[in-house]
Amino acid sequence: MSTFELQKKHIVGTAQTLVRKGYLMATGGNLSLRIPGQDSFAITPSNYDYFKMTAEDVCVLDFELTRIEGHLKPSVESAMHGAVYEVRPDVNAIIHTHQAYVSALTLIKAPIPALFDEQARFLGRSVDIIPYAPSGTGWLKNVVAKHVRNHNNAFMMQNHGALVLGQDLERAVHNVEILEKCALAYLLAICSERGISKIPLAVREVAFAKLRRDQKRIEQGERVTSGE
Ligand SMILES: [Zn+2]
Repeated sequence: MSTFELQKKHIVGTAQTLVRKGYLMATGGNLSLRIPGQDSFAITPSNYDYFKMTAEDVCVLDFELTRIEGHLKPSVESAMHGAVYEVRPDVNAIIHTHQAYVSALTLIKAPIPALFDEQARFLGRSVDIIPYAPSGTGWLKNVVAKHVRNHNNAFMMQNHGALVLGQDLERAVHNVEILEKCALAYLLAICSERGISKIPLAVREVAFAKLRRDQKRIEQGERVTSGE
């Protein structure tokens, strides 16, 4: 049995949950999980049916993208995942999807301001647009690494999809769901052509401070279970 069996099974189970919920489609998107205490991560293979996937198919790479385990080609976005783990020690799980409403907002390059309390608490001050770069390139890796330093946990990749971060895979899945709800509400509000109200700045800052407190505790190796 692989040393990374638990992480690999967790990846497969989460990927299938995301397909059932409609956030991952066909073979699009990818997800990864940091291997605790090591400069490595488990990641879905490239272009592979999520319902055919077993733990054996999941790849384990180090931050230089050297393959530690796995017989399939790792996701083409592996460099982007590795770069996020390097610059964000509070992040232990990453989900990249082509979810519909977020994808729509990436086409009009509309960042989502702080619209809901829950959004600011778990996704950060805003959901920004990461400028376009082609999939699987060093260019995309660099532009993503630069943007995720702002401590937010959700981003929209221009003409592409969503990039969602979390302290663990469960939190990352919840963040994917919060993001899609915000994206749909924002799109509908934009279509109304009426003024869009945001939450008060002070409320946004209190919520973001709670998120940062959680992140700092995780950076120091503490487990955060608070869902407040
Ligand atoms: Zn993609």
